Amino acid sequence: MRSPDAPVVGMAATPDGGGYWLVAADGGIFTFGDAAFHGSAGALQLNRPIVGMAATPDGGGYWLVAADGGIFTFGDAAFHGSAGGTGNGVPAVAVAATPDGGGYWLAFGAPLPLLGKIVGIDPGHNGQNYAAPQFIDQPVWNGRAAEACDTTGTAADSGYSEAQFNFNVAIDLQADLGAEGAQVVLTRPDNAGVGPCVTTRASIIDNARADVAVDIHADGGPPAGRGFTVLEPVADGTNNAVIEPSALFATMVRNALEAGTGMPTSTYDGVNGLQPRSDLAGLNLTTVPKVLIECGNMRNATDAALLVSPVFQQAAATALAQAVTAYLTAQAAPAS
Ligand code: ZN
Repeated sequence: MRSPDAPVVGMAATPDGGGYWLVAADGGIFTFGDAAFHGSAGALQLNRPIVGMAATPDGGGYWLVAADGGIFTFGDAAFHGSAGGTGNGVPAVAVAATPDGGGYWLAFGAPLPLLGKIVGIDPGHNGQNYAAPQFIDQPVWNGRAAEACDTTGTAADSGYSEAQFNFNVAIDLQADLGAEGAQVVLTRPDNAGVGPCVTTRASIIDNARADVAVDIHADGGPPAGRGFTVLEPVADGTNNAVIEPSALFATMVRNALEAGTGMPTSTYDGVNGLQPRSDLAGLNLTTVPKVLIECGNMRNATDAALLVSPVFQQAAATALAQAVTAYLTAQAAPAS
């Protein structure tokens, strides 16, 4: 199914210059002038987007190349091989045909920095939690004490819910990290359900053996208080091995949010935007480096105006993606 907003990523001219084809990232083909339609990849379920095209010398066909190096042939374009499925993580960016059409070159871009990395994202709460108190109120063991399975989360005075904010940032972050080659594990697929419990959220990310993880929240703090806080785990046995890397990651997240979002560090919680916490299942039960971010205070009018805005949500996701990339690529450097 064609998506109407897929960007055009390539073009090729007909042999006499009397027309041309455009190709969109989803494989859709647009013909102009004397360019004939020889088929498209618009109806295919593509693993990776189309990134370029080349026409055969007589204009009777064309090749499309996808970001994974896969080649699609149409009309009289012959298949001469592909780089698809080689899994080298270097994205294809263009295809060019030889003059006689007996072959083609593929051009590759820079390697994806997060290829092979797994990132856990837990958007706190869920959109229907308020309708299921019997489920979310059930006690669960958070590693130190009993706490509720989940809560409804907070909301802005306008009624805009924290659960919606958390999910929007998570989806933006998933897209940013995916573009860098990471595999993303989300603890809930949408904002229309109930739960899961905070303990289940922790085990989803632990079981995925994520390289790093973020729990995304916004706070319901004192109305006069502003700003974001990065909460980090405190050693309890289960999480001992990830205390140090989580603290390093927390600092990177704090710095990225401060530089990239316009949201100040909290005026009422933590020190310079950082706060160790021993009362949260997501941090007590983690076996992967993780922080929980209160991205701002939904009960404060200035913060709330930022939190509900898609521009701020994308900026927060971009900052988080930068922190994840900085953390994971620093980890990849050889130890001195
Ligand atoms: Zn929350």
